[in-house]
This record gives sequence, structure tokens and C-alpha cells, in this order.
Amino acid sequence: MIFDEYYVKSLIRSVPDWPSPGVMFRDITPLYKSPKAQRMVVDSFIQRYVDADFTHIGAMEARGFLLGSVISYELNKPLVLFRKQGKLPTQTIAEEYDIEYGKAVLEVQHDAFESGASILLVDDLIATGGTLLAAATLTRQLGGSIYETAAIIDLPDLGGSQKLQDSDIPVYTLCAFA
Ligand code: AMP
Repeated sequence: MIFDEYYVKSLIRSVPDWPSPGVMFRDITPLYKSPKAQRMVVDSFIQRYVDADFTHIGAMEARGFLLGSVISYELNKPLVLFRKQGKLPTQTIAEEYDIEYGKAVLEVQHDAFESGASILLVDDLIATGGTLLAAATLTRQLGGSIYETAAIIDLPDLGGSQKLQDSDIPVYTLCAFA
């Protein structure tokens, strides 16, 4: 299905002052209520990555799971879950990072993938870039490399996608809210 940026953006709801004052929250639940819009989004990523040679998809909790899971299914590649603190059993490695509205810790299991793996890191949205940068750090700690970071939405004014690119991490997003 051909990607219609105007249509997809029309289904992303902007909620001022949530979850805290000053934050403009970009709510993707209306997009996911539309099978047509969800298909447009997923098809765009599948077309981009169908012949790509990364080995794993790394999905960020929680909304990154929605996208990462379906890309993993369609491309028949293993899915690695990057989760918030305390959610993953067995031995994990952790990285603290800043988010738009606070601090958080991201974790991944120590045996999530073999050293030498190449990972596509996926989230719904890039704000300050803290989440994906933390995931990139964890990926490298386990001996993996970053193929690319991908999200539906970029918030360029918050500088995250630029920060990732400045760290030599490629970024791909479908639309932006400035
Ligand atoms: P960051 O780590 O600052 O790039 O923030 C990205 C993560 O936080 C993603 O998992 C988003 O779901 C969430 N997030 C941060 N800011 C927003 C926002 N303004 N609207 C929706 N989600 C956000």
C-alpha cells in the first residue's frame, strides 16, 4: 500500500500537557485503530528492509513492540525486546538515560543475540533520542552493531534524530512533527 503521509499524520493525535505540563504527546492509538493506516506504516518499513542484511530487530518497550513484532514476523528475523527496568528475567545489562519527561532505565538480556549481530532498532517515535541511544549502547556492549534506527515519528525540534546521526547511527522515520 502506498504511504500517504498526510493520511497517517491525520491519525496521530496531539495531546498537550500529557503526561506532564509542557509535553505535546503524539498519540498513535488512532493510527492503530485504522487497519489501513497501520498497513501503510508497516508496508513502508517492509519495503525498505525486505532485502536488508541485518540479523535481528530490536524493539523498544512498549509502542516499539507493536512495530518491531510485525516487522520481525514479515521479514522472518528474530525479535529482541529492550524493556524498562525490572521486566526481563535472567541476567540483563542496563543503561540509564534521559527521556523527554524524566529518567528511565533500559534493559536487554545478556544472551539476546550473539556477538557480531547487526540490529535494526525500532520505536514508535524519536524525541530526545535517549531511548534509542541507550539501546545502541546496550547493543554494542553485547558485541552487536546498529544497522539503523527506525521510527514512525520524528520530533526534530527535540534533537534526537540529529543526536543519533551525530553518533554515526543511521535514522529512518516516516513523518515528522515540528
Ligand atoms: P526519547 O527517548 O526522548 O527519544 O523518547 C522516545 C520514547 O518516549 C518513545 O518510546 C516514545 O514512545 C516516548 N515519547 C517521548 N516523547 C513523546 C511524545 N512527545 N509523544 C509520544 N511519545 C513520546
